[in-house]
Amino acid sequence: MSLIRIIPLQFSGVEELDKILPMITRRFKMETTLSLQHLDLTPFFNPVRSQYDANKLILKLAPMVLEQEKVIGITDLDLYIPVLSYIFGQAYLGGSVALVSGHRLENSRYGLPHDSKLFSDRLLKCVLHELGHTFGLRHCLKPGCVMVSTTYVEELDQKSDNFCRNCQSELAIANA
Ligand SMILES: [Zn+2]
Ligand SMILES: [Zn+2]
Repeated sequence: MSLIRIIPLQFSGVEELDKILPMITRRFKMETTLSLQHLDLTPFFNPVRSQYDANKLILKLAPMVLEQEKVIGITDLDLYIPVLSYIFGQAYLGGSVALVSGHRLENSRYGLPHDSKLFSDRLLKCVLHELGHTFGLRHCLKPGCVMVSTTYVEELDQKSDNFCRNCQSELAIANA
């Protein structure tokens, strides 16, 4: 049986992950586990941008993946890829590894009151989205679908934490 494994990488909200695990299991119909592993992230820091290189970090995660498994790293660190000023997450399309950053998901970053429910909703959406890519799903145009591409938290808040019917049937085929 396939498995989804979440690895916190310098992520302070591990208790938030406990809240979203059952939802991930439900969406992908796969067991989801939490795996605490130490990985030194300093080599991925870019001092010019004061951010962490997501492409290099994801390459480092790839060898940790076991057979029939999807691995997703979750971090508080601010991630970037060279062409974008920041990213919420990154994944290999049809691959086995993904990455999500909670750095820009917290309301207080935007001068708004702290909201832990909103934070975990956003985190869940980012995790489902990036894992969706690992199952071969591309960006979706159906409003509300979790596979809609998003750049800002406001856009994240507008979509649901579910896959549209089309994406669901693609997922079912990928998992068959
Ligand atoms: Zn995407
Ligand atoms: Zn969709």
